[in-house]
Amino acid sequence: MEILYKSTRSDVAPVKASEAILKGLVEDGGLYVPETIPALDKTIDELSQMTYQQVAYEVMKLYFTDFTEAELKACIEKAYDSKFDTEEIAPLVEADGAYYLELFHGSTIAFKDMALSILPHLLVTSAKKNNVKNEIVILTATSGDTGKAALAGFANVDGIKIIVFYPKNGVSAIQEKQMVTQKGANTHVVGIHGNFDDAQTGVKNLFNDKELAKVMDEAGFQFSSANSINIGRLVPQIVYYVYAYTTLYKEGKLTKGQKMNVVVPTGNFGNILAAFYAKNMGLPIDKLICASNDNKVLFDFFATGEYDKNREFVLTNSPSMDILISSNLERLIYRIAGNDSAKNLAFMTSLSKDGKYVITDEMKSALSDFYGNYATEAETGKTIKDLYEKTGYVIDTHTAVAANVYGKYKADTKDDTVTVIASTASPFKFARSVMNAIDTKYDAMSDFELIDELSKVGNVAIPNAIEEIRTAPVLHKTVCDRTEMEAAVKNFLGIQ
Ligand SMILES: *Cc1c(COP(=O)(O)O)cnc(C)c1O
Repeated sequence: MEILYKSTRSDVAPVKASEAILKGLVEDGGLYVPETIPALDKTIDELSQMTYQQVAYEVMKLYFTDFTEAELKACIEKAYDSKFDTEEIAPLVEADGAYYLELFHGSTIAFKDMALSILPHLLVTSAKKNNVKNEIVILTATSGDTGKAALAGFANVDGIKIIVFYPKNGVSAIQEKQMVTQKGANTHVVGIHGNFDDAQTGVKNLFNDKELAKVMDEAGFQFSSANSINIGRLVPQIVYYVYAYTTLYKEGKLTKGQKMNVVVPTGNFGNILAAFYAKNMGLPIDKLICASNDNKVLFDFFATGEYDKNREFVLTNSPSMDILISSNLERLIYRIAGNDSAKNLAFMTSLSKDGKYVITDEMKSALSDFYGNYATEAETGKTIKDLYEKTGYVIDTHTAVAANVYGKYKADTKDDTVTVIASTASPFKFARSVMNAIDTKYDAMSDFELIDELSKVGNVAIPNAIEEIRTAPVLHKTVCDRTEMEAAVKNFLGIQ
């Protein structure tokens, strides 16, 4: 069955998967959604015999229906190869009564690699299929992890340039070092004075600027997005939920048809939305547990039905979740509004005008699959320390937010369903926060001393991604105001 993609905000003509991947965002400002969510067409028994790459094909073929089998398999082979430091790609680790799905074994040791290692190949293939003449310019706003994962994915890919904007004072020291040391003449990294939402809003404005699009086209360029709103990001993220389930099934941890819960540390709502899609494809998932940090706009939303971003933006130790506008939530709103683009548009217009909207009671009742809660900074630190002392397993701050919320969920509900916690970053990426949580005596150490120490206390080897940046020179030094983002883009592309 061919799947076409339509807008969450209007009835513009639906497009093929490759076109949706190329465009990223719809011209009307909406997000692409599949006309229907396809059902898995292989049984759990069949899937449980497959490698990660094979499961990836079985999931993606249902969504990217205008790709040939050969095209899609080539993309998958190039993406999930020895860049990952384990053949399992996404291993599960049992600790303290939950299964941690480690999504950080790719080139930048965070979960964004799961999708960003394949997106460049999907994009290049899509451009070929659609006879695109222009050079593609990937424009991305990052709260830390997306940026490096996108840079690593796109560096030196022919026919593509990539520009990454990050909040100058809103990412960890290691995250910043990872980005500003990026090699590849087609890469450009810019710090902005502002927070992640400023960067994201700035990027959205550039995308929606028709004048700029014209100037770009004349110069032989066109924008595309690597942000988690691209359907080429969302679909690859469905794969590891299927893989997690089939792995647990194969190992006898789940019996046929038995449901699992998933807990996802959430920012832009992409990762948990992928789990929601997996559930709607027929994967036996029960609860979708949405974990937030102190920027708990989603917790409040699930509790009250009101989404309100008018609040103080808090900088936390889980910076990739420091987000007040969860872009991918729009796809869920659209769905629970009965796939009604006019209704969704009204909510999104209210969000951009007043910074808030309230869903109807009927829509709220459609959210019963979700449970939302949040963890404070102190709780997050304590969760890292407690888990380490109890089991020896060291988790990063984002994963710890999820682990803490899982504890709250169990206390609230007494539900003992088998549970998978999405482990979204290696603790090495947030070594300072992690080590400080374990013992404040580490506070005096330098970043790389902390990494060596973490390797000792956690009894795990230092990932290559960290070793590489230890001595790498800084190659990107541009910093600008929010108002100067367009100029930064034109400057890099050599447009007057
Ligand atoms: C991006 C990110 C998240 C949030 O994922 P969303 O899909 O934006 O909800 C959580 N943890 C880490 C480490 C991340 O990089």
